[in-house]
Amino acid sequence: MIIKPKFRGFICTTAHPKGCAQQVRNQIDYVKSQPAINGPKKVLVIGASTGYGLASRITAAFGAGADTIGVFFERPSSGNRTATAGWYNTAAFEEAAREAGLFAKSINGDAFSNEIKQQTIEMIKREWGKVDLVVYSLAAPKRVHPETGEVFSSVLKPIGQTFSNKTVDFHTEEVSHISIEPATEEEIRHTIAVMGGEDWKMWIDALQEADVLNEGAKTVAYSYIGPVVTHPVYREGTVGRAKNHLEATAHELDKQLKEIGGEAYVSVNKALVTQSSSAIPVVPLYISLLYKVMKEKGLHEGCIEQMYRLFNERLYTGGEVQVDEEGRIRIDDWEMREDVQAEVSARWSKVDSDNLKELSDIEGYRRDFFQLFGFETDGVDYEADTEANVTIQSLA
Ligand code: NAD
Repeated sequence: MIIKPKFRGFICTTAHPKGCAQQVRNQIDYVKSQPAINGPKKVLVIGASTGYGLASRITAAFGAGADTIGVFFERPSSGNRTATAGWYNTAAFEEAAREAGLFAKSINGDAFSNEIKQQTIEMIKREWGKVDLVVYSLAAPKRVHPETGEVFSSVLKPIGQTFSNKTVDFHTEEVSHISIEPATEEEIRHTIAVMGGEDWKMWIDALQEADVLNEGAKTVAYSYIGPVVTHPVYREGTVGRAKNHLEATAHELDKQLKEIGGEAYVSVNKALVTQSSSAIPVVPLYISLLYKVMKEKGLHEGCIEQMYRLFNERLYTGGEVQVDEEGRIRIDDWEMREDVQAEVSARWSKVDSDNLKELSDIEGYRRDFFQLFGFETDGVDYEADTEANVTIQSLA
């Protein structure tokens, strides 16, 4: 079929298999153009199909020559519905990994469940014995608690007071004001349950109990801090509470892993266009201003450049892992540079619908968004009849 982008709210409900495959190949080529990483050899990535998790998997495989198992929640194609982008990304990743002689298998299902944890442990035992690195990169709107069955939904809201600020609709390029009502205590509790560290700890506990973590194994989960302008809705809001919980969990897991000489970290990453971040109010406007400023300064990075730097310059340098005063890895260091933030902040106060194109990289934002679903990618013929039914070989 001929596959075009189709929207519902802030998500695209179609994805292009050839475009997704090209995006994955571009990321692989980037990593292969960089010096090899003396890193982990057996890597489990939870949330491996898109965004930071996919880039982590690609970096581990093509940067460090690692065998990988990827866990994610994606949908195959059916009838005239395309698969999700993460499905196509994984099919392309596995194919490239196999061609390179690397082991790559995937598990599609709810990572919050006990069943998927057990299935993963069985695969590790059967195929590898033990893992060297566990990357935890889930971003989910909901979680069913595996013990109690309670269904939690995360919300993006401020805490304590209403937050009003500018936001942009990147489809219409209109800058407007948005007001978001504060979260209830129940909503805070729910968001911490979905995006906090409880499930990460459940994974590490299960892996450790099953004795499938190698001596010296590491685990890393991803967090975000960002600029003062988004603090009320992000870092000091519901998701920020969840990230505080995730960061506290890293300290707990770090102590726990000492038993096997292992380490646990949270890495604070740069704000980037992913399926999750495009749904956050205010953040897309900040990201488009940030992109423009960082591109002008020659500092811009995408997920793959960020993850390569995380592995090569933080996690696997052969020496101590460099962290901030709270024990966090900071690869948002370029985003948070004083000159970058001062320029973004000056533009933030001036930006409106009329000067949006001049002050921000709204075009780059929009293109990145489409590229998440395999559209607007060089080298792909979008008028060609395309097979939407693509197999992920390890799931066939
Ligand atoms: P993403 O939406 O691109 O990826 C989410 C991944 O989680 C996908 O692989 C998806 O399949 C998987 N997933 C979701 N629900 C699942 C479930 N129930 N079971 C199994 N897999 C499931 O998101 P992302 O932006 O790459 O976010 C990953 C992490 O990075 C998050 O913790 C996020 O807060 C953090 N982070 C993101 C940014 C950013 O700007 N995007 C910045 C810093 C940190």
